[in-house]
Amino acid sequence: MGYEICLFCSENIKIETRPFDVYYIDCPRCGKYHVTTDTYEDIRDSIAKNLKERQRANISGWLYENQGYLIRTDNINMSFFSTIEPPVFHTH
Ligand SMILES: [Zn+2]
Repeated sequence: MGYEICLFCSENIKIETRPFDVYYIDCPRCGKYHVTTDTYEDIRDSIAKNLKERQRANISGWLYENQGYLIRTDNINMSFFSTIEPPVFHTH
């Protein structure tokens, strides 16, 4: 258990490792979401660097609406980012 920065919104998060190689993340903005450890590293080391601010905001909002979502390798590439709805607010 330790503290890190949220992959998506950069808030300080509480992170806890549970069995089956899953991180349980508690973010003040995104709420609770789960990420398998290898997917977490993928996101942190590559995917997150390519996300635009708007995508980050969308993902953060989406996770907030879908508490306890488990992000895995098999859902992150194919559907996770592509199914995130456009923002309901305007950014420039
Ligand atoms: Zn967050």
